[in-house]
Amino acid sequence: MSAKLQQVLDQISRDMHDSHDWGKVASYIPELGQVRPDQFAISVATADGDMFSAGNASTRFSAQSITKVFTLAIALGRAGDQLWRRVGREPSGTAFNSIVQLEHERGRPRNPFVNAGAIVTTDVVLAGREPREALAEFLGFVRAAAEDDDIHINADVARSETAHGHRNFAHAHFLASFGNLKNPPEKVLGTYFHHCATELTTQQLAKAGRFLVGSNTFPHMVSLDRVRRLNALMLTCGHYDGSGEFAYRVGLPAKSGVGGGILGIVPGKASIAAWSPGLDRNGNSKLGTAAMERLAQEMDWSVF
Ligand code: GLN
Repeated sequence: MSAKLQQVLDQISRDMHDSHDWGKVASYIPELGQVRPDQFAISVATADGDMFSAGNASTRFSAQSITKVFTLAIALGRAGDQLWRRVGREPSGTAFNSIVQLEHERGRPRNPFVNAGAIVTTDVVLAGREPREALAEFLGFVRAAAEDDDIHINADVARSETAHGHRNFAHAHFLASFGNLKNPPEKVLGTYFHHCATELTTQQLAKAGRFLVGSNTFPHMVSLDRVRRLNALMLTCGHYDGSGEFAYRVGLPAKSGVGGGILGIVPGKASIAAWSPGLDRNGNSKLGTAAMERLAQEMDWSVF
């Protein structure tokens, strides 16, 4: 498999670099608006313990919403199934930052991956502590999963988002008005903006995602039962209003972020990280998605 996998990745990377339309980088976080769109990287960590990459696989990018998978794993570890009283498990059919559903559904976000849901899971991770302690636990989890301590939060990106985060402030105060935040909204958001601002390379992200593969060879950060459920949520909700399209085209559980990263899981086999900063209209990486679709087809990887 190894020789073929490397060839496939190299070919995909060449084809992506020939692309004429890289999509648009997120500009609502000004710091992310500075990133050059014509970049691409892909890495695969296999269950045999190997790592394959192509493109700019050692360039760090902003993980953004991909970190919601890690905070969800930590929140489930803390609150168990009690978490589901505060967050739903259904696809939203709306944008990641849409606020309309929240009033209809009385402050219980549809799922843990839309912003409102992730703000609630961050509230659970915060658990009455100072943001710095919660962030230390979060970074500790990501670093342990990746077996790499050289993973950090970019404070400039967090500051940039805080200064322009009016929608997320609206979400947090709205949640608080329904009694669905236990910590002060400012502290929850400070923690949220910082975990979103974590920077990784595709190699580091593919390694960090191995705990979701559910293979004996990988770190057991959470139980197999929980791994399956996290994957179910990634498949149904991981790409917001583009989740159905992603499941149709790629057929793998995955989580995207507005930094242009995608973490995809081939259960029992591999963890994949793709990155290209240009986004489609749902805020998911345009070429990252195209690359994952190609890879899944060529390797015959699908959960179906
Ligand atoms: N930090 C970003 C936000 O809250 C994350 C969004 C995303 O990656 N989809 O808007």
